[in-house]
Amino acid sequence: MSARKFLVIDDSKLIHKMFNVMLRQYEVVHAMDGLDGLAKASQHPDIDGILLDINMPKMNGMEFLAAIKADLALKDIPVIIISTEGKEEDTQRAMEAGAYSYIKKPFDHKQLLDVIAGL
Ligand SMILES: [Mg+2]
Repeated sequence: MSARKFLVIDDSKLIHKMFNVMLRQYEVVHAMDGLDGLAKASQHPDIDGILLDINMPKMNGMEFLAAIKADLALKDIPVIIISTEGKEEDTQRAMEAGAYSYIKKPFDHKQLLDVIAGL
């Protein structure tokens, strides 16, 4: 069985580095904004989950979520919102828009792995 594969969409290079370490037993695909994320999701329709930032240039996380939920081929991929503290409204809206779960930054390694293990 090949390693499960996750798509990380975030405009912070530091976050991508961190996910490379945290998710080292998985395959990780990287995207720097929502548009890049849509392209990568189309290239990797076999991804097991998406870890999504909200605040990003070009296409933000909410716009990405709406786009992927409207795509029949991609809409069932679970999306986990990685949100910044103090953005409770965004998190709520994301859950209403079909996100699977959310994790608040800063988060710990175990919390993230537990959510991913449950997918
Ligand atoms: Mg951001």
